[in-house]
Amino acid sequence: MIKGATKGSVYLDHHATTPCDPRVVEAMLPSLHGVYGNPASRQHGFGRAASDQVEQARRHIADLIGCAPSEIVFTSGATEADNLAIKGVVEAHAQRAAASGNAAPLTDGSIMAGQAPRGHIITAATEHKAVLDACAHLERHGLSITYLSVDADGRITPSQVEKAIRADTTLVSLMLANNEIGVLHPIPEIAAVCKAKGVLLHTDAAQALAYVDCDVNRLGVDLMSLSAHKAYGPKGVGALYLRRRRPRVRITAQMDGGGHERGRRSGSLNVPGIVGFGHACQLIARERQAESQRLGPLRDRLLEDLMHAFPNLRINGSQTHRLPNNLNVSIPGISAEALLANLDDVAISSGAACSAASADSSYVIKALPGAGTEAAESSLRIGLGRFTSDEDMRRATASLIAAIRHQRAHPVPAEVDADGDMCGTTACGPRVDKTTIGEPTGDEPSVDRPGPAMTDLGNQPGPSAIDDLGHHA
Ligand code: PLP
Repeated sequence: MIKGATKGSVYLDHHATTPCDPRVVEAMLPSLHGVYGNPASRQHGFGRAASDQVEQARRHIADLIGCAPSEIVFTSGATEADNLAIKGVVEAHAQRAAASGNAAPLTDGSIMAGQAPRGHIITAATEHKAVLDACAHLERHGLSITYLSVDADGRITPSQVEKAIRADTTLVSLMLANNEIGVLHPIPEIAAVCKAKGVLLHTDAAQALAYVDCDVNRLGVDLMSLSAHKAYGPKGVGALYLRRRRPRVRITAQMDGGGHERGRRSGSLNVPGIVGFGHACQLIARERQAESQRLGPLRDRLLEDLMHAFPNLRINGSQTHRLPNNLNVSIPGISAEALLANLDDVAISSGAACSAASADSSYVIKALPGAGTEAAESSLRIGLGRFTSDEDMRRATASLIAAIRHQRAHPVPAEVDADGDMCGTTACGPRVDKTTIGEPTGDEPSVDRPGPAMTDLGNQPGPSAIDDLGHHA
């Protein structure tokens, strides 16, 4: 029996992970028992059967993002895809430069030309840690990294990228959709800038695949990271798209071994996971548009109800350039961490993570001009998904509003964490992080938006619903 209070709870944390669609599970079953060969064992039928399944899944994924199957490299998820993209491109670039006599990669793989750093990457302060930490790794080996600051909407503009590109820029890495605030960068326009300057563009589309168009040619990207478990597939499998022509993207493998995936990623393939990922992509191709059209209004209604209940809430990130299933708001005066600890019937998350071991609040929220530590600590990330019903949203809204009112009426006493920082309603020691450039200057206009007068409050929770949940209004 699985422990944990999930029964009856509404799951609204689809940015963390999505449930595996039962149709995906069904499609995976034969590869868990019947077709168990190793797809690399092409000398016999068991291996060939498994290989056929892998290649079919590769086609489904390629069809969804508009590329050739040979441009897909399977990985263990988006973290590995991001690392392979960023480190792989930089190392391949350095090796080519070394071969032409311009640079010498050291034996430990670090990228140096004599003592001078070589190469330059442009990314954003709000990227996922898989990208930021891969960049930080290269930075330690002498590479130069530019961390662009986002605007008040949480977006990067094409002209920012254009200005940041240098003669030695190797790669621009900007996510399609942010995992906390759901904001979509203008990737096609940024891609046009990169193309004009002859610089490769990588995008992490892990959060976007299930909800928005991820066609690599319409986006104009050269590399794309994907993850199955953000798209109603299984955990532990993902992919990296690598453009084969105009330009041909070259990467250096990050794992030594049997030379699987045409030498780009060694390791026996996760056949059931890949089959599940392929089927998940088939479902997305058929259902994405209708699903996004259903989720957007559900999300908007939740926002209206929250704004009505808490007119001074802050919406984190653009309201228009945003995933249809994402909402991220800060409610002044609350500790999101404490709120979530007592919210048994709704599963949402916060950018804040106060604990004895780490006093860390969302670097994504803090990177938004006008937002600070308090906004980060009171931020709630809400992610709707394929199986979220109207009734789920009605219950979750009632519960959330009641819990927030309760906490406001009974403020959480501030605690002191292991480092001596205050950790409670307002003060959770900000981590000093070099990636959080673009800190608020204090000059930015307030982006608090008062709640609109709602004409239809039919879905507003009544007092009895609130009382039923055991909270005080
Ligand atoms: N990139 C983004 C944007 C994500 O949201 C995540 C998951 O949190 C990852 C990368 C990591 O994905 P995975 O769990 O497949 O390694």
